[in-house]
Amino acid sequence: DFSTEYFTMNEEQAMEYAKKKLDYFKSDAELTCKEIGDGNLNYVFQIVDEKNKNSIILKQAGPVARISDEFKVSPDRNRIESDILKIQYEYVPEHTPKTYRYDPVMNCFAMEDLSEYEIMRSALIKHQTFPEFADHITTFMVKTLLLTSDVATNAKEKKALVKSFINPELCEITEDLVYTEPFYDCERNEVFPATRPFIEKEIWGDKQLQLETAKLKFEFMTNAQSLIHGDLHTGSVFIKKDSTKVIDPEFAFYGPAGYDIGNVVANLIFAYANGQATISDAEERDQFQKYITTTIRDVIDLFKVKFNKLWQETDKEFVANYEGFQNYYLNSILKDTAAVVGLELTRRIIGLAKVADITSIKQEEARQKAEINCLTAAKQFILNRETFKTGDNFVFQIKKAL
Ligand code: ADP
Ligand code: MG
Ligand code: MG
Ligand code: MG
Repeated sequence: DFSTEYFTMNEEQAMEYAKKKLDYFKSDAELTCKEIGDGNLNYVFQIVDEKNKNSIILKQAGPVARISDEFKVSPDRNRIESDILKIQYEYVPEHTPKTYRYDPVMNCFAMEDLSEYEIMRSALIKHQTFPEFADHITTFMVKTLLLTSDVATNAKEKKALVKSFINPELCEITEDLVYTEPFYDCERNEVFPATRPFIEKEIWGDKQLQLETAKLKFEFMTNAQSLIHGDLHTGSVFIKKDSTKVIDPEFAFYGPAGYDIGNVVANLIFAYANGQATISDAEERDQFQKYITTTIRDVIDLFKVKFNKLWQETDKEFVANYEGFQNYYLNSILKDTAAVVGLELTRRIIGLAKVADITSIKQEEARQKAEINCLTAAKQFILNRETFKTGDNFVFQIKKAL
């Protein structure tokens, strides 16, 4: 009866759940249900009332990851996801799905059906372009990252938030898969054979690089700066021409703000590499590449502009008003951003969880070239992270390596 004991639902049960537990459909509804999840961790049901042309999404957390039952992950992450979606909806309703009901027994919540949108990674692999994305995603990031930080939040309230978003299991996945395993010859890595010699020499053989990743890992584990999304790649973005919605914040916790920005930028670089490797018409390829580099430049520069504007408008912690502090704070976010660009580029090529932008490149040599170029850029982003201060700085490095 859904109210005593947790179990993972099938389509039939999810439909029953919607009927009995969600005060959403009309009594004459004619429901159908389909599991549409394509992620690694959860079950996503789309429940449709054909008769009244109405629908809803139910997302349920399973007890283990779908990719591998090696990852045991507490279904409590569903609470974290539905709670942070409410906070994000408060700050940026235009870029956040509306949520309806969190159920602590079944570890599921209901949300707005965004089926008229497309997952951004899939759209980018088809080389579609979204000129407003940079504007939308920077609004989302500036508001969620600055307004949840100690700069703008009462210190005690902020600590209560830190506590309620303690997310040890999902943080451990990031600590292992992003910050640790890609940088040595770990069994769980999945290396494309043609790229292996490069990786052995340039990544696993680079002691300076390893040292920097150790510093960055401890910073990720200890810098409770902002309530971050934690998994802000292009597979967590639903997009259409004039609208952008960010989904899937189950990795949320208080961490470095640059982690989110870096993920956005790195995944745009994967789209760039895909376009370079797979678009045969030169003019079309140039146009797509230009769209991506313009978007990356705008993500950085618009972030800075909007961050500075919101900083001025916000009631701040007293010492944040000292001259020079704003600049220091923003520069440290940009440094973390650059480092995370490098980490994300590396972990998606060497580590366990891949991106389709790269794995869908069919020709072996083209994929090897894309991987080596991304890794070459990655090293520079990590090693020289203090030098990336403008959108042009980021784009210059990308064009140099790719
Ligand atoms: P996971 O945490 O398992 O990665 P996601 O939240 O990313 O789950 O959702 C997996 C997939 O389910 C998405 O890629 C998308 O195709 C679909 N989906 C998720 N949320 C919605 C929604 N609100 N509306 C429509 N489809 C959705
Ligand atoms: Mg997902
Ligand atoms: Mg997904
Ligand atoms: Mg997820």
